[in-house]
Amino acid sequence: MLVVRHAVVGPFAANAWLAACDRTGEAVVVDPGGDVARVLALADPGGYRVVRIFCTHGHIDHVAGAAETRRKTGAPLALHAADLPWLEALPRQAEMFGFDPVEVPVVDASPVDGETFRLGACEAKVLHTPGHSLGSACLLFPEEKIVFTGDTLFAGSVGRTDLPGGDFDALFQSIQTKLFALPDEVRFLPGHGPGGTIGEERASNPFVGQNPRRGRFV
Ligand SMILES: [Zn+2]
Ligand SMILES: [Zn+2]
Repeated sequence: MLVVRHAVVGPFAANAWLAACDRTGEAVVVDPGGDVARVLALADPGGYRVVRIFCTHGHIDHVAGAAETRRKTGAPLALHAADLPWLEALPRQAEMFGFDPVEVPVVDASPVDGETFRLGACEAKVLHTPGHSLGSACLLFPEEKIVFTGDTLFAGSVGRTDLPGGDFDALFQSIQTKLFALPDEVRFLPGHGPGGTIGEERASNPFVGQNPRRGRFV
């Protein structure tokens, strides 16, 4: 079983997630966007060990605590290669978005679409879902029917596409072909706000659902 916990961190109230295999205690931190002490404390009940860090994309609210998390856990950090320019621009992102100065993390691995890895007894699969940014990626646990969607899909909404590399048509395609291809009952856990199920979003999401009320996100 996968144990999932989260903390809301940073000026943009981003969700930082901990997902742990309850059989082996191995855990992944998804989107360490800040407040690292609180994020790492998520691993304390049960004594989980953070063995991986996965950033769904390179925006500051999802990576601001990545360098510190990597240093404190020794776990390798994964980010899709297409979002590496966002990391290099972290000092500028910090200035623009009112964050404290942010340390640029070392990226250990840049997974490609479809790549899998084991987390204890669980298997995780990376889905490249460009649109919110070029390198946006979701992390799917097929057996557990859980997918971390970053800023690609929200409950009743989708990620903005007006930042550099953003592209609504790409976002729409990513959601239709990668996320809405999943079974209805899969739970998605987004980068901001509450989660839900893929089935609910497919039926009623106003931007990408069956009857979009607006053709595009503006
Ligand atoms: Zn973002
Ligand atoms: Zn965000």
